[in-house]
Amino acid sequence: MTVVLDERTAPRGFAYSHMTIPVKPGPFTLAYPEWIPGEHGPTGPLNDLAQLKISAGGQSIPWERDRVDMYAFHINVPSGVTTVTVDFTVLLNHPNNFVDGQLATRNIMVGNWNRYILYQPDTDNTKYFVRASLILPPAWDYASALPVASRSGGRVDFTTVTLETLVDSPTDSGRYYRHITSWSGQGTHTYIDLFADHPEDLKMPASELAAYKRMTPEALALYGGRHWNVYHSELTLSDLIPPQGIEHHQSSDDRSDDTFLTSHAEQLAGGDLLTHEFSHSWNGKYRRPFDLQQPNFNRPFPEHTELLWQYEGMNQYMGDLLAFRSGIKGKPSDYPEYFAYIYSAMAYEPGRNTTPIIDVTTGAPYYYLASGPYGSLRRDAGDFYVEGELMWLDADTIIRQLTHGKKSIDDYTKIYAGGTSGPRVVTYTRSDLEHYLNEVAPYDWHGFFQKYVYSIAPQPPTDEIARAGYRLVYTAKPNMYEANRETLRKSIGSWYDVGVNLAEDGTISDVREGSAAWNAGLAPGMQIVAINSREFTPDAWNGAIGATTASFAPLTLLVKQADAYQNISVSYRGGPKHPHLVRLPGTTDMFAQIMRPHAR
Ligand SMILES: [Zn+2]
Repeated sequence: MTVVLDERTAPRGFAYSHMTIPVKPGPFTLAYPEWIPGEHGPTGPLNDLAQLKISAGGQSIPWERDRVDMYAFHINVPSGVTTVTVDFTVLLNHPNNFVDGQLATRNIMVGNWNRYILYQPDTDNTKYFVRASLILPPAWDYASALPVASRSGGRVDFTTVTLETLVDSPTDSGRYYRHITSWSGQGTHTYIDLFADHPEDLKMPASELAAYKRMTPEALALYGGRHWNVYHSELTLSDLIPPQGIEHHQSSDDRSDDTFLTSHAEQLAGGDLLTHEFSHSWNGKYRRPFDLQQPNFNRPFPEHTELLWQYEGMNQYMGDLLAFRSGIKGKPSDYPEYFAYIYSAMAYEPGRNTTPIIDVTTGAPYYYLASGPYGSLRRDAGDFYVEGELMWLDADTIIRQLTHGKKSIDDYTKIYAGGTSGPRVVTYTRSDLEHYLNEVAPYDWHGFFQKYVYSIAPQPPTDEIARAGYRLVYTAKPNMYEANRETLRKSIGSWYDVGVNLAEDGTISDVREGSAAWNAGLAPGMQIVAINSREFTPDAWNGAIGATTASFAPLTLLVKQADAYQNISVSYRGGPKHPHLVRLPGTTDMFAQIMRPHAR
């Protein structure tokens, strides 16, 4: 089939798709992709499909939506017709079930081909071929891992690829762009392709650019080979496009704020965006859970997500590992402070007492969409990422201890995803993973995953802290990564002391079950208007919490809930509490060994 994506109207929030699709005479079905790889759910944005017209030889062909499978459109193909023409309008800025916001601005368009196509769904997308073209707005440029057949002005014709490769090849474009060659070697390159709403946001400080140039060598050192022929990290910089990161074999679709590259605080908070998605080329795209890989994007082939504790959980560790080894997200010596920050978030989550990680991964298509109050009771998709990092770090320290420092997770990654090939998929099961780990260091790995993934685990993996030569403490000193996030989000964290997270205006976003705030009856959505008879400000709040170190008096709050005001008294003593790691004297610092640069 062919598809021409005319995005000249992208600055106005829509684009046109013009397709030709081979068909057979008689009843025939065309489908809009439903299960989108990397989004781990039935997230195809059906409501973005508008003005669908199907015709053959200039004659309109009526279509009818399936009554059960809303992604399927039935037509009757006249005899003698072997190709139909399909035209539709793609709405780009419509809130939908995965992207709650814009994909195009005046200056940028995020290009995911699954949004621009219909196809014959009873096919194998590795054997169904597509020739795609792109028509850009004047003066715009694009980035894509798709090979180019020809380019003439604003029109780009790509070479014929499989449907799998097309949907696996996001094609971002924009008015203000910068193509950075981040690495060259082995006869190929990796690129970072930037698209910004404002030209000044394309300027990366030299030290940061140097860190990003270490990303590919560190990844090659970690995995010992590659499964891409070329690689593009496509990054949009816009406050109008919500943050996102979607992995692909030879590229990634990365979206962040205007100032992502120009603010050190943004790099500390989100500096694993590109490394995480890059690591997915090995872990997720090349190696994939056996039941997540399906012949195409529609019924009857839903993805099954229970092994995301490896796909995303290990990848969270790999993304941070690469970000610290490269120096993007902080120095290697900053990792213990970062670890304390993520460990505490998992340890102080009441939902873990009822809901095991396997439920969160199995239910991932819904947990990804979960938002709003009481997330700490329900848990959400972020948990198998963060807890995955703790678990794989624990595994790393176990391997290092069992082998007296001779082996590490870096040996596992090479068994799991080493070697070099073009983009392809090799699937795995849970027992494959346990087998690879046993090859590195014999241990009860089945029992290990049983404990932390397949059972309720009231504590996250914790033994790695002492094994790495540290102990966890809570003190009044702010945690650097926690404080940085609060500055960026304009929020106040009192999660480990009073048990509440607040916006800067005093509005409560979540309350920790069993905490002083919970016991006093505070709830998300309430706004704290005054504390200890003083108007609420972040300083007034922090001052009052600080005073509880010495005072036995309860905190007195004036709280507004909808149109009602009430006085609430919170019995809390002990001052502010923020997590940190401190070294155990006379032990080996395993975190320093793990996070040091590994590329030669
Ligand atoms: Zn991921």
